[in-house]
Amino acid sequence: MEKRYTRLNDVIKNNNLHGIILTDGYNIHYLTGYKGHTGVVLILEDDRYLLTDSRYTEQAEIEAPEFKVIDIALDGYSKTIRRILNEKYCNNINNAEKLRCGFEDKSISYSQYKAFRDNLEEIVELVELNDQIDKLRMVKSKEEILLIAEAEAIGDKAFEHILNTMEVGMTEKEVALELEYAMKSLGADRLSFDTIVASGKNSSMPHAVPTDKVIEDGDFVTMDFGCIYKGYCSDMTRTVYMGDEMTEKQLEVYTVVLNAQKEALKCIKPGMICSDIDKIARDYIASAGYGEYFGHGLGHGVGLYIHEEPRFSRTCDVVLEPGMVLSVEPGIYLPGEFGVRIEDLIVVTEDGYENLASSPKVLILM
Ligand code: ZN
Ligand code: ZN
Repeated sequence: MEKRYTRLNDVIKNNNLHGIILTDGYNIHYLTGYKGHTGVVLILEDDRYLLTDSRYTEQAEIEAPEFKVIDIALDGYSKTIRRILNEKYCNNINNAEKLRCGFEDKSISYSQYKAFRDNLEEIVELVELNDQIDKLRMVKSKEEILLIAEAEAIGDKAFEHILNTMEVGMTEKEVALELEYAMKSLGADRLSFDTIVASGKNSSMPHAVPTDKVIEDGDFVTMDFGCIYKGYCSDMTRTVYMGDEMTEKQLEVYTVVLNAQKEALKCIKPGMICSDIDKIARDYIASAGYGEYFGHGLGHGVGLYIHEEPRFSRTCDVVLEPGMVLSVEPGIYLPGEFGVRIEDLIVVTEDGYENLASSPKVLILM
């Protein structure tokens, strides 16, 4: 935690702030230990407050011992913050100079923002922090990486299970349920996102929802799934083929996606820029003639939340550092025909990367 507070203090210093108001549940969890997802944190120069309601005060006191837990009772968050600031800065309150407080403009609702503005504007200047707090979570500690690896290992075992159970005649929903049951049986707390199982023509939609469609001979089946283990997410995708014989085009698309991932993986190491890694896979797919069928980014950070900073995207200029955890997931989606995506989760190491997923990627014919 101490390292996290040091980096939080840097944000306070760099933005010339008196304090920070945190509203994002994942950032609050990261910086306090409190997992309740209902609450607001106020960080001042020498005091840290966690505001929540009576349903969560006991939990908050246990999970966030370094914070003063305050029950907002009937006052609501903004009036409670105003009261704390009034008490703490009572001597300065009549001064013309307002207190500068950073806030998370990316995750706050408009009504919550209005309440802060209306109740605090006399004494506080609200300063947009954009993604500065989210970015504190980019480099994971050893403990965090172990938990993500554990979550990904649960995914690997669930995939092994599905290879033994999936067959023609099952519906996409049944396969999704089987994956989810396996992950929970293996110790997952919950899912990190809604499981995707997309077969045949449905696989051309990158984020298809499992349907009652029956899986048929000749279908590609794309399975994108993950779980949360002790707070940390996993994420993986495998595409398998139902049947013994596939068309040349199906084989070509699978091979291009797999090679695009390999090309990108080869270049992952500290110092590389995220958008360059995205470009390597994108250029490879384009050179094979499928450029227009790979629309989404190559990958995203994974941690307490399933999609976090940084991104392997066309625009992300973050430089890779050891400890960053990202997905690498190229795909080709041919509308009305089929789609293929392959996704691993990697952690950047001192001299390259380590793949946290160990499930096979060679084309599996079921
Ligand atoms: Zn995924
Ligand atoms: Zn992903």
